[in-house]
Formats: sequence, C-alpha cells, structure tokens
Amino acid sequence: MINEFPRVRFAPSPTGYLHVGGLRTALYNYLFAKKNKGIFILRIEDTDRNRFVEGAVDNLIDTLNWAGLMADEGPKSGGEYGPYIQSKRLDIYQKYANELLGKGHAYRCFCTSERLGNLREEQKKLKLPQAKYDKHCLNLSKDEINKYLENKIPFTIRLNVKPGNKIIIDDIIRGRVEFDPSTVDDQVLIKSDGYPTYHLANVVDDHLMKITHVIRGEEWLSSTPKHVLLYNYFEWEIPAFAHLPLLLNSDGSKLSKRQGDVAVEDYRTKGYLKEALINFVALLGWSAGDNQELYYLNELAEKFSLERVQKSGSIFNIDKLNWLNFEHLRKKTDAELVSMLKDEVSKSEYDAVDYSDEYLLKVIHAMIERVNFLSEFITKSFYFFIAPTEFEETSRLKNWKPETPNHLQRLCDNFENVLNNTKEEFEVSLAKTSEELGIGKGKLIHPLRLAVSGVSGGPGIYEILEIIGKEETVNRIKSAIEKLS
Ligand code: GLU
Repeated sequence: MINEFPRVRFAPSPTGYLHVGGLRTALYNYLFAKKNKGIFILRIEDTDRNRFVEGAVDNLIDTLNWAGLMADEGPKSGGEYGPYIQSKRLDIYQKYANELLGKGHAYRCFCTSERLGNLREEQKKLKLPQAKYDKHCLNLSKDEINKYLENKIPFTIRLNVKPGNKIIIDDIIRGRVEFDPSTVDDQVLIKSDGYPTYHLANVVDDHLMKITHVIRGEEWLSSTPKHVLLYNYFEWEIPAFAHLPLLLNSDGSKLSKRQGDVAVEDYRTKGYLKEALINFVALLGWSAGDNQELYYLNELAEKFSLERVQKSGSIFNIDKLNWLNFEHLRKKTDAELVSMLKDEVSKSEYDAVDYSDEYLLKVIHAMIERVNFLSEFITKSFYFFIAPTEFEETSRLKNWKPETPNHLQRLCDNFENVLNNTKEEFEVSLAKTSEELGIGKGKLIHPLRLAVSGVSGGPGIYEILEIIGKEETVNRIKSAIEKLS
C-alpha cells in the first residue's frame, strides 16, 4: 500500500445516466474508504467526445449524492468540476505521452483508418484470436516522421508493447491473473484529436491522485495488463486491483436494458427508497456472512471488506429489491412517513393541503403492510383521497343485488347515530343493521366496501370508514346507490 490510508476513486464516464452496476462500484469504493478511514474520490472520465451528453455530469453527481455517496474529493454539481474532470486535463496527458515517446515506450502512428481497417480484415481472415496493430509506424525513419509532421498528417500515439515476462495481476477478488504481453495490442494512448484514450488518462490520473486501490467492474480486467505496462514504463508504483463480479439477469446473461431498468434514475423515479437501493446493490456480490439482509449505509461501512466480495456473477433479482423497499419503508418513523407522503400527494393530482398530518398518518397505518412503494399509498388506496367514480365489475356482479340499495339505505340511517367516528361504532351499527334486516353481515359489508372504495380489497372496512368519516361514508353510499342501481 502506498499510503497508510487508502485513496480510492469512482471514475465514471458521463453517458447520461448512472448504471446500477456503476452505483455498486461507487458504493464499494465508498464503503472501502469509510471502513479504512480512507478518501473516496469522484473523477469524471469524459475523454470520449463521441459520447458527450449534455448535463450528464451534473446528473451523475446528483444521483450519487441522492444515494448518499458523497465524495471526499471531486466535482460539485453545477459546473464546479475543478481538476476532477479529464477533459480539463488534456495537457497533463500530453505531457506524459511525450515522456513515453521520449523513452521509446510509445510512438507516433500515421496510419490511415483505411489501412487499419484493411489490417483488421486481413487478421480476421487469418482467424487470429484478436486484432492487433502491426507496429508498422514503429519502423518509420526520423525523416519520414518529420515529413509527416511537417505535412500535418494526423497521428495517434501508441503504446510500444515489448515482448517480456508474463504480466501478473494479484487481484484482491479474482486472485492471480496472468497475461502474456504478446496478446497486448499497441494501444492508442492519444487520439488524433489530441484527446487521451481511457487507458492513458486513467493510469496517469490514478497515479497523480495517489490512488491506492482500483476497485472497478470486471469488464475492465482485460484492460489491466495495458495499465500495468504503463505503470512499468513510467516506473510508477502499481495500485492494488479489485475487479467486481458482473451483474446478471435472472437467465444468467449480462444485465441489460432489454430485461429491465438499469439506470439508477429510473428506480429513483419509480419511488424506490435510496436505503433500499443501496442495501440491494451492496448485496450484489458481497455478503457479511452473518445472515443479516437489512442494512443501512453506515452499517455496511462498518462491515464491508473486499475479501468478502464474490468472484462469480451476481443475479439482479428485482423481487428482492421490492422486498427490501417494503422493509425499509416500514422502518421509517411516522414523522418521516407523513412528510414523505405529503410530498407524494403534492406530486399527484391531489392537493397536500387538503389533508392533515393526522389524516395522512391514519392512511399510513391502514396501508403500511400493503404497499411496497410510497406511491402505492395513493394508487392502491386512492379512495382515501377521492370518492370512487368507478366500481370494480367483478365485485359489483357478485355483491350488488336488487335488494342491496334498500339494505344500504338502512345502514345509512343507522350510521347517522354514529357519534365519534370510531371503527367500533361502525361495527356495532352494521351488526345492528344486519340483525334488523335478518341478513348476514357479509351481505352488507361487501357492497358497502364497493360503495365507499370502488374496489374489493384493502384494509378492514371499519378502518376505512373511521378514516373517511361518517359524513363522507354516507355520501358515498348514497352516490353508489344512484350509480349502481
Ligand atoms: N471510465 C471507466 C468507466 O466508465 C472507469 C473504469 C475504471 O474504473 O478504471 O467505467
């Protein structure tokens, strides 16, 4: 280790959204830093100008902050990116590329894209395991190079990979991984537009930012030999590597957009709690080994270790995420829930000022065991916010009989005597009505539920009545009688 305390970084490319896999990488870096009293750095790798997306950096920062993963060092949203965005560091990469040129570890390549295309075609025909540049420009004479430069022929700068010993990576998660240098391509380090490629910028920045542990997705493992060669050619200390397992769909294929949402923003919009998402993502490839499943961020930071990250891919199970959302929702205090529900009501077609905290809390208590999401307090039990205008057809056919209006009318009459709006009173009153009419209570309860809520499921009927109150109950019954008879 270079320092006593680790320095780690999350280094996303701003593609427009934060992938859940990216959230996991960010989280593991964050947890590792917190656990080991280290520093968590956010660095924006935006050197691929073809993939530039307006607003993507701010969106990334905001999403990470929403999830609670605040960087100790890094850009702030709103354009205050400081030295943590690679497009502002181009001269640094150029300087280091020149250093490699000077040492013979890199060379200029003037090949046209046609030549490179033909080369690839030929190699494909020969069925070579992978396409590689043929070092054509390594053999250019000084005069040839100068002539090209004078004529302003565009060029790239390539890594000059030399034959040598096996490249060995002792990955904290994957163990020892070996690569033969003959399989490593003369990677472009600086593109003809003057921008560095990911490989050069990433290694230079990890060195300059004194990164001790590179924790990133497994898809970068195959790039690591190039990085190790760069560290060696620069004569820099190599950080520790930890490559995180792939995220998989339930059928074992790589997690893809086609099978569901992959953007953290989508989960956020759908109303997943950040606590649930963080908890879920933490368990995608890591476990504390203690059978606990429900964790908060600070507990994770106490328990996390890279040694307990698994090697094999991790299945993204949406049912588990939904369950965690349900559990985390129930762990919220009444005050938190009321304030969250108020926000949710404000976002809906209803007006939050119409409902007191006390009212909302009653709705919450009635529904908390029946919802996975905050929004379901409104969608599943809309009848606490508005009288039903439509009535579930199957329940109507089953429960609304020709004699029902008369029965319900009698019920309304008795409800007039309910004085304190308690569920007990409603229950007594309904029992009395059923006796008076000589019918079973079910003959009243089912149509009553349909009349006041429009649907057949939900919390106990007396609880619903207590919440909406006598007056509203009677009005709804009368209106249902008109509509359904
Ligand atoms: N910019 C790379 C990405 O988008 C970073 C990979 C790394 O962490 O080295 O994932």
